[in-house]
Amino acid sequence: MNEFGIRTRVYFGKGSLNKLNDIKNKKVLIVCDKFMETSGMVEKVSKELSNCEVSIFSDVVPDPAVEIIASGIQALKACNAEVIIALGGGSAIDAAKSIKEYYNNLNDGIQKIEEFYAIPTTSGTGSEVTEYVVITNKQEGIKYALTSESLLPNVAILDPELVKSVPKSITADTGMDVITHAIEAYVANGATDFSDALAEKALTLAVRFLPLAYEDGNNLLAREKLHNASCLAGIAFNAAGLGITHSLAHAIGGKLHIPHGRSNAIILPHIIKFNANLNGGLYNKDYSLAAKKYQRLAKLLKLHAPNVHIGVNNLIRKIEELQKNLMIPTTLTKQGVDIGLLEESMEEILKAALKDVCTEANPRAVTREDLSNIIDKLK
Ligand code: NAD
Repeated sequence: MNEFGIRTRVYFGKGSLNKLNDIKNKKVLIVCDKFMETSGMVEKVSKELSNCEVSIFSDVVPDPAVEIIASGIQALKACNAEVIIALGGGSAIDAAKSIKEYYNNLNDGIQKIEEFYAIPTTSGTGSEVTEYVVITNKQEGIKYALTSESLLPNVAILDPELVKSVPKSITADTGMDVITHAIEAYVANGATDFSDALAEKALTLAVRFLPLAYEDGNNLLAREKLHNASCLAGIAFNAAGLGITHSLAHAIGGKLHIPHGRSNAIILPHIIKFNANLNGGLYNKDYSLAAKKYQRLAKLLKLHAPNVHIGVNNLIRKIEELQKNLMIPTTLTKQGVDIGLLEESMEEILKAALKDVCTEANPRAVTREDLSNIIDKLK
C-alpha cells in the first residue's frame, strides 16, 4: 500500500500575500535574514498582519548553523509568539522550521507553536512544503539534512512579487535546484505515479521558465511559473525522496561553501550518467528503470529520444546547455574551489555523503569508491 498527502495549504499567485490577513490579534515572530529587513519585504509582510504584535529575528545567514537556531529560540522565548512566519529562501525557512521544532520540544510547560507560515522568496528549495531541514555544523563543515513530519509548515504562500528582486546568479542557482529536485524525485526509490506527475510538471515549467526569469527578472509570468515549479518539485521529492546529487551537494557544499543550487547543477549531469549506467551500449536491452525514466523525461522536454541511450544523453546535454546559458560553472575548479582542500577533506566528504539521508533513495546503490570516482569527474 502507498500513501500520498499534502498537509501544507498552498496559496499561490499574485496577491497571495493577502492570505496573511487571516492572522489577527496574535503575537508573531518573523524569521528572516537582514536583506528581507533592508529591502522592505518584512514591512510588506507586517502590513498584512492586523493588530498583531510583530517581532523580528533577522539573524539568518545562508546555510544556517546550529548557533543561529539557538539564538532564534531565545528570540522566540523573549517575544512569546503564537505564530511563526518564515520569510526568505531555503535558509530562512529551514532556520524557522528548526527554531519551531526545538522550541516545541522544550519541556518547560511553554505554549507550543501551532501556526507556521512559510513564504519563500527564492524559487528553489521547495522547503515550504517539505519535512526536511538542512542545518550546518560550522566546526565540522558538514550540512545535515533531517526529516520529520512535524517540520511541515501549515501554510505556504507563493507570491511572485516577492521573487522579482532575486539577482540573476541566485535565480540561476535556485532554478537549477528546482530542476535537480524534479529529476532526482522522478527516479528516486520512493517515486510513485503521484510524485511523478508533480515532478514532470515541475520539470517542464522550470526548463521553460527559468531562462525567461533569468533573462528578465521582472517577467512576472516567468517568476510565477518558476515559483510554482519550485513548490511542485518540493512536494514531489518530499514524497519520493532525492538522491546522491543532493548527498554530494550537502557534503561538498558544506565543506567548501558553494551555494546549494550551484553544487546540484555541477553534480547532476554526472549522477544521471551514473544512475543510467549505459555501459552496455546502444544494443543493451537491460536498461535500468532509472535510465528508462530519464528517457521519458527527455521525451517530455521534446528532446530527440528514440531510444534510452540517446534519450539519456540528450537529457544530460540539455542540463549542460542550461548550465552554460545560465553562466553556471561546470566544474569545481571553475567554481573556484581549492582542489587541495577538497582532497584534504575527501574522507569526511565521502563519509558524510554515504550517511546522508538522500543516499538511500538513490535508484542505484553506491559505494564509497563510486562516490570517489564521481568526485574525481567534478574537479
Ligand atoms: P538562501 O536562502 O541561502 O538565500 C540565498 C541568498 O538569496 C541570500 O543572500 C538571500 O538574502 C538572497 N535572497 C533571498 N530571497 C531574495 C529576494 N527575493 N531578492 C533578493 N535576494 C534574495 O538560498 P536558497 O537556495 O533558497 O536556500 C538554500 C538552503 O536551503 C541551503 O541551506 C539548502 O541546503 C537548503 N535546502 C533545504 C531544502 C528543504 O527541503 N528544507 C531543500 C533544498 C535546499
